[in-house]
Amino acid sequence: MSSNKYFKTEGPWSDAKVEILCSDTGSWRSERPVVNEEECILCGFCAIFCPIQIVKEQTNCFSSDLAFCKGCGICAQECPTDAISMISEGEFK
Ligand code: SF4
Ligand code: SF4
Repeated sequence: MSSNKYFKTEGPWSDAKVEILCSDTGSWRSERPVVNEEECILCGFCAIFCPIQIVKEQTNCFSSDLAFCKGCGICAQECPTDAISMISEGEFK
């Protein structure tokens, strides 16, 4: 996967090299995925199904890049162990 200055991690868009497609989430996401590390089995399904490919493997679990995450919840729906909870952004303010 290539990257460029506009799309630091977004795979499907990363070859476009067109600034107008830059889609940092900023402040408009209503929910964010939060991973319970105790329940994560490191299967990688969340990374596979994330439509913008911003879920990365960490030491003990997978987590999303919140600069790009849109809060769609697909990762949480696909997680086989329900390790991902979609939490209201209001909880983090
Ligand atoms: S889908 Fe769930 S269990 Fe699998 S890596 Fe992602 S958070 Fe962990
Ligand atoms: S909520 Fe959507 S955009 Fe964010 S990490 Fe999960 S699948 Fe990707």
